[in-house]
Amino acid sequence: MPKWGMIIDIPKCTGCYNCFTACKDEHWDNDYPPYSAAQPKHGQFWINIDTKERGSHPFIKVAHMPVLCVHCDNAPCIKAASDGALYKRPDGIVIIDPQKAVTQKKIVDACPYHVIFWNEEKKLPQKCTFCVHRLEQGKTPRCVQVCPSGALIFGDLDDPKSEVYRILTSGKTEVLNPELKTKPRVYYIGIPKHFIAGSVVYGDMDECAEGITVTLTERASGKAMNTTTNKYGEFEFDGLDAGKYVVQLKCAGYVAKTIDVQLKTDNYLGAIFLSR
Ligand code: SF4
Ligand code: SF4
Repeated sequence: MPKWGMIIDIPKCTGCYNCFTACKDEHWDNDYPPYSAAQPKHGQFWINIDTKERGSHPFIKVAHMPVLCVHCDNAPCIKAASDGALYKRPDGIVIIDPQKAVTQKKIVDACPYHVIFWNEEKKLPQKCTFCVHRLEQGKTPRCVQVCPSGALIFGDLDDPKSEVYRILTSGKTEVLNPELKTKPRVYYIGIPKHFIAGSVVYGDMDECAEGITVTLTERASGKAMNTTTNKYGEFEFDGLDAGKYVVQLKCAGYVAKTIDVQLKTDNYLGAIFLSR
């Protein structure tokens, strides 16, 4: 018995919406009993792209984050349903029974990830099924099949030979809202957090300072990390939590610089001038 799961590599997602369109093509006007009723043409997004913009001019970063049902092992939607209208299959896929769930609008509100949609015409809550009808034919979910950049990786989380297993055991993944303790089966790489960035300039020459060593230290833990400026004098530390940090710049022949940063959201420090 496989244990199905997905890994979403956010830095690889280009926001092309192929997955979104393919999901619509697969499910619009198509019933797949006993797993799903046809998706309406409008108003439902079983996989959607959440585009996140961070920073401020001139340092802006954009990330595209595919969002779908994460097929929780501890699913609030199942607890909210009556008459066994929602259930988890032995392979981990969470299914809304399209007959038993009719009129149970409360199921929509039970999902903390807001990925269940209400079909007004059929009086039915609906969501992603991991394309279980395709899995039973030995195929992958349609969104995974059409993703041109390899951002959606699907497989058996228990199979040591699978790519999902290899990535999962590398320790690079995380889940959405772990504090909810829902135990998702969808994992992410590169969930946008906060960054500290800046542009270093040789003040005496008014030129970009390339190859400068920049050290970032988190005040609470004392944990330090290093980077070097690129040919435009830019540096960046991403994936940071909010908190207090110290940025230090060192360059032979110039006065060392220390900048205290109280990081609440992304922080571009602007041009930092080195003086002799
Ligand atoms: S993400 Fe929402 S709909 Fe999917 S299993 Fe978890 S609670 Fe249910
Ligand atoms: S198809 Fe792949 S690259 Fe395109 S939006 Fe979906 S996940 Fe991102």
